[in-house]
Amino acid sequence: MIKLIIGYAYHGRSAGIAHGGYHLVTLDPINEGRLHRKPWDALCKPQGKFWYLEPRKEASLDIATCTRCIEIAERLAKARGEK
Ligand SMILES: [Zn+2]
Repeated sequence: MIKLIIGYAYHGRSAGIAHGGYHLVTLDPINEGRLHRKPWDALCKPQGKFWYLEPRKEASLDIATCTRCIEIAERLAKARGEK
């Protein structure tokens, strides 16, 4: 089971309306098929591709808003369950 936490991404540097999002961040390395992630990477893309990704360890995974992260988490859970 991969340990996941919530990561809050700030989008862009401009002031005004915040377009941040809650992503799923892995605390474990992931190597599943074509998906390779290091600890502290979001499931949808590596940490370095974010302007800033802030870990929210205390947040419930239910608040994730990134559909890509959620899809990948479901796929990983399924892949592991079928083995
Ligand atoms: Zn994401």
